[in-house]
Amino acid sequence: MIISQKLREGLRHITEREVLWNCSLAPYTSFGIGGPAEALIEVESIAELQRLICFVSEHDLPWRFIGRGSNLLVGDDGFGGVVFLFGKNMSGVKLLERSMTGGIRVRVSAGCSLARLLNWCVEHDCEGLEFAAGIPGSVGGAALMNAGAFGEDMSGIIEAMEVVSFANGVEELPRQQLDFDYRCWSNQGLGKAKRIVTSVDLILRRGEKTVIRKRCSDNTAKRKKNQPKIEKNAGSFFKNPPDDSAGRLIEASGLKGMRCGGAMVSLIHANFIVNTGTATAKDVCRLMKMVTKKVEKDSGIRLFPEVHFL
Ligand SMILES: Cc1cc2nc3c(=O)[nH]c(=O)nc-3n(C[C@H](O)[C@H](O)[C@H](O)COP(=O)(O)OP(=O)(O)OC[C@H]3O[C@@H](n4cnc5c(N)ncnc54)[C@H](O)[C@@H]3O)c2cc1C
Repeated sequence: MIISQKLREGLRHITEREVLWNCSLAPYTSFGIGGPAEALIEVESIAELQRLICFVSEHDLPWRFIGRGSNLLVGDDGFGGVVFLFGKNMSGVKLLERSMTGGIRVRVSAGCSLARLLNWCVEHDCEGLEFAAGIPGSVGGAALMNAGAFGEDMSGIIEAMEVVSFANGVEELPRQQLDFDYRCWSNQGLGKAKRIVTSVDLILRRGEKTVIRKRCSDNTAKRKKNQPKIEKNAGSFFKNPPDDSAGRLIEASGLKGMRCGGAMVSLIHANFIVNTGTATAKDVCRLMKMVTKKVEKDSGIRLFPEVHFL
């Protein structure tokens, strides 16, 4: 136990909601794997988040912020410390501006799901986010991961972000101060300067409702064809190496269907590691190492995980 009784009392006092103690994180992830968080708190406002970040930082308590857990592998022993995530009040979408030239600026709270935002976009005739149709996860997680598909990603539509950290409080970061790379946002910071994304401003375009809807359903259909349908997973497990695809390399090494305990390289898409029902984080990590080793031996290319670890 990392959080003493006294600190538990302190945490209880500064949150508006119940603190969940020793709460299994498996249901909070798309992998369905992972042990408990010592404390789990759903945060409903930026002021509450600031109070909590101050508390954990001042008491040197380990903490982590998660979104919808769709890119996350939680260890079997769980997390000794406090895990935060956004609640319902942190999922709003607000139209900021419709320009005469067709540009549309939208502010989205980081807890909003990409699916909900896409529905909003269809209703409001906004195009530009269709590449994300079918990507699970929150807008904050998508910004942090620079999530993308079909040759587009979040960095192409993000105009600004609001972030919170213990060291710098609330900051508005304009596009020029945001460095995105392949599946990552590079300015998150470390330690007491580590930033949590609270909202994202997107620049979209005026479009035709039926066209936007069709693009979304086409993209979702393409995914359904190429991705595991039943088994739980965290999307593409490895990052694609430059000018190649991790899936192609893993398949070329003959690893589709390779298993380690309850974890398996998907038979449908080789870059998906799936939980066949009983996988532990240990199984997934062992399989990850086996795949990395064999691919490197066969191709000379080292794969790095896209999935984040807790
Ligand atoms: C079936 C499936 C298909 C997928 N397809 C794609 C795809 O096509 N393209 C793609 O890019 N991804 C894909 N993913 C991966 C995943 O959906 C995305 O990376 C998504 O954007 C992660 O969002 P999340 O809210 O689930 O983040 P989480 O998994 O909860 O977190 C990911 C990381 O972001 C951090 N984080 C989350 N929210 C915040 C925040 N507000 N502030 C600071 N840090 C934060 C977490 O600490 C963690 O390090 C897929 C996943 C699945 C399961």
